[in-house]
Amino acid sequence: MSKRTLFQFFHWYLPGDGRLWREVSEKASDLARIGVTDTWLPPAYKGASGAASVGYDTYDLFDLGEFDQKGSVATKYGDKSSFENACRTLADHGIRPIHDVVLNHKMGADEKESVIVRRVNADDRTQIGEEDVKALAYTRFTFPGRQGKYSEFVWDKQCFSGVDLIERPDETGVFRLMNEYGEGQWNDEVDDELGNFDYLMGADVEFRNKAVYEELKYWGRWFSEQVPVAGFRLDAAKHIPAWFFKDWVGYMRDTIGTDLFVVAEYWHPDVATLAKYLDLVDNQLMLFDVALHHRFHDASRAGADFDMRTIFDGSLVSSVPNHAVTLVDNHDTQPLQSLEATVEPWFKPLAYALILLREHGTPCVFYPDLYGAEYSDKACDGSDWKVEMPAIGCLAKLMEARQRFGNGPQVDQFNHPNVVGFTRLGTETEPGCVVVMSNGDGGQISVELGPSHSNAMFIELLGHHEAEVTTNIEGRGDFPTNGQSVCVWVRRDALSP
Ligand code: CA
Repeated sequence: MSKRTLFQFFHWYLPGDGRLWREVSEKASDLARIGVTDTWLPPAYKGASGAASVGYDTYDLFDLGEFDQKGSVATKYGDKSSFENACRTLADHGIRPIHDVVLNHKMGADEKESVIVRRVNADDRTQIGEEDVKALAYTRFTFPGRQGKYSEFVWDKQCFSGVDLIERPDETGVFRLMNEYGEGQWNDEVDDELGNFDYLMGADVEFRNKAVYEELKYWGRWFSEQVPVAGFRLDAAKHIPAWFFKDWVGYMRDTIGTDLFVVAEYWHPDVATLAKYLDLVDNQLMLFDVALHHRFHDASRAGADFDMRTIFDGSLVSSVPNHAVTLVDNHDTQPLQSLEATVEPWFKPLAYALILLREHGTPCVFYPDLYGAEYSDKACDGSDWKVEMPAIGCLAKLMEARQRFGNGPQVDQFNHPNVVGFTRLGTETEPGCVVVMSNGDGGQISVELGPSHSNAMFIELLGHHEAEVTTNIEGRGDFPTNGQSVCVWVRRDALSP
């Protein structure tokens, strides 16, 4: 059975040409060929900014590019039929579609309502003022373009716990929306940054409202009847009470199938925080390895000064390997984005070798790293920037190598501050490999492969080294790498059909 490899089939700055779903269909067979097993697709429903929306400003969960709302029928990625076609094409090629689910907030309300709010200290959300403020807020969602098709549910002020904008008085900030739920307090079981991180943006969904909860369960079932669903990527989990996803994921598994793959975005580098969250959700899902991503970022900036023996220190994959989705970059960390901490291009081959070829962790490959990307945007200071994210030339080969050579027990050699490596010993039927890399000068590792590899010839798979390595009678060989590079050594006879 193939080892799971996720591919994030989008980035923040894709052109808004409505073509992504078609591109998914076009590239499905190539992705299957290089070993992609699961594809994480961007949010498919209509966002408040319509065809310009990346998808994280949820407006209408039931509009998958089908209704004339927010200025267009199609979303940034295409219309509903091209979305259905993309999912079916992936499934036809044996690739599991993983869908992005943004349930924390809604934006782009259709109407204002009279509300009562209390002002909140934005830096400490547990400090909620005592004065009831009468105001108007954008909290009523009627979806006039859809006219009740699929769901007649109207969202109103009882469905939200907070907003960041009120009128009469006109103010921006963080406001607790006083309604029937929570006695004026935020949802609990959320991240404790800023005291209580329930509120992120827009109209914050009130999960304690039973009607909202039932509507989100109904939506999940409805969605799974529209397109093939093999799993979910859950957005903004640190802002949503943990009990909700524990229930919701359990319900979706009961409804669609127990083998659903679910990864939550709980963007926090501290493994103890992530472990606590996993406990709260009964270990029903995976989490992104934020700490490892930061290690990659730091290493790529530090060059030879970074001690490669510590690359996995503090990572989720080293402490909770079965729940770690490992990544190098994503749509939030790419240059000019909110969590920008991009990994420098020279280090990406090393980082991808460290997530794709090792025994533990479920790796996720980012679209621009495979296909490249060019875009421009404004930085925080308002200045214009043009960004080029080059395709990582050896990435497809590393992905193929994961399926073909990432086999058997793993033996680590993290003994030198710059030159490190590991060996996959292979199984009786599947070949292994020797991986060696350096973030400084060239070097080598000496590996004892055992008598089954005596006098065997190895060549380098990525085209990064021209040498041939021949092991001695006991199966020992010296495997080199160039400086700031990675080599994957495989037996030459394993390459022939
Ligand atoms: Ca929230």
